[in-house]
Amino acid sequence: MKVLPLGGGDEIGASCYMVSTKYSYFLVDVGLRPRPFQNTPLFPKIYEYVESWEDIKAVFISHAHLDHVGALPKAFQYNPKMKIFVPKHSLSLLYIQLLESLSTKNSKQKRLCFKEDYDEIQYAQKLVQETLDAVEEIPFFLRRKIPKTNVYFEFWPAGHILGSASIHFSTREGNLLYTGDICNYNRESIPNLEYRTNHKTDYLLSESTYLNSQYNLTPQEGFDALYSNVQKIVEKGGIVLIPSFSLGKAQEIAAMFQKRNQSVKKPVPVLLDGLVKRITKIYEESLGRTAYHVLGTKYCKEMRRLPPDPDKFRDELTKLSGCVILSSSGMLLVGSKSAYWAQALASDCRNAIFFAGYVDENSPGKVLLDFQKSNGSVAINGEKTQVKCSVEKFYIGTHAHAKGIKKIIKLIGPKEVHFIHGKASLKLIKDFENRLNSKSVRGFTFSKGINFNIHEFGENN
Ligand SMILES: [Zn+2]
Ligand SMILES: [Zn+2]
Repeated sequence: MKVLPLGGGDEIGASCYMVSTKYSYFLVDVGLRPRPFQNTPLFPKIYEYVESWEDIKAVFISHAHLDHVGALPKAFQYNPKMKIFVPKHSLSLLYIQLLESLSTKNSKQKRLCFKEDYDEIQYAQKLVQETLDAVEEIPFFLRRKIPKTNVYFEFWPAGHILGSASIHFSTREGNLLYTGDICNYNRESIPNLEYRTNHKTDYLLSESTYLNSQYNLTPQEGFDALYSNVQKIVEKGGIVLIPSFSLGKAQEIAAMFQKRNQSVKKPVPVLLDGLVKRITKIYEESLGRTAYHVLGTKYCKEMRRLPPDPDKFRDELTKLSGCVILSSSGMLLVGSKSAYWAQALASDCRNAIFFAGYVDENSPGKVLLDFQKSNGSVAINGEKTQVKCSVEKFYIGTHAHAKGIKKIIKLIGPKEVHFIHGKASLKLIKDFENRLNSKSVRGFTFSKGINFNIHEFGENN
């Protein structure tokens, strides 16, 4: 068995792995890079293994984040006969994610993500629709076979976002577990990660987003810090903006507020805005109100729709006090709802902007975070804005830390572990291997974007 990382090997973005066994080829995830113009996985490399796209029998999607699924329409265009398998609850999220990425302000750039020569947005939309019509949603723990192959597969809940899965493959050349993005802390908005060990795993392809991170707060500890700071602002009538990723992070934060509000004397009202609203609805519809219910509860409501005009957001603020606004985008991208709210809130020292996760070095959110120490104005939503409010960053993760990955390796007991989806160095992995102190694992590798020859690796170690 061989695994060729076409993207996502030693990076977060463009996750795409070509798995080849003696008799069959399939793809696991087909994501995009977050930056425009370096968008697609290395599809031409596919020809190192196959003569034609028609040889690829199936594509598997682990979850609906664009770094795992954004290039699916492009792959479908290359081979419309390919089976597309996604985990349960993913299809409505895929619709929203893929179509939304076509209709943002940067749609011209975004469309490049799909195919370099898309001139017409309608054409891209049609392709997304055709791609999603071909998708088959598979329940968790249901063992299925890729048609015309000897490969069996199962999706297992990965605890990352709604419908996120790890994928277990059984082949004649050994069994492979692809973790996808995983989080094995207790979750409030979705079912927890659940692995079944009745199937043996020889080769583990593990994500390593936070393997190298200094942060080791649990999501709950991160939320505790956020909540106590929010309380201080809200008690004085201030408003806190939490810019958040619309899929996954926002729902987890909303659910954490919901739970905490039930046990405190002065609950914190939370208003949801932006794409967060639509995605939260999908969470409620998919999981059912008994399992997940945030919208329309006493202290968590949807914001009414405001037109994209800074004055309208300022007017709306005059009617509000002592609350949290949870809105996308997480990095205050120009034109996003969170950027409009930040623009309206920033000049009042009673307010706060609290980031709750990853903020890219080149994003407007990072500019604001770096700026806070000095006085003056900074560009928010593309306009110079006086900043007098507090600006801070908290950490509420939706990925496993090194400790969690270690736990998974011990539980699964693979012969080999290969780290992907991160920037772990060989030295770091050596340290990790020593700390894990496992005699059963024969070896660890770090992909460096090159292909693993899993079978040979096993024999040589
Ligand atoms: Zn993800
Ligand atoms: Zn990812």
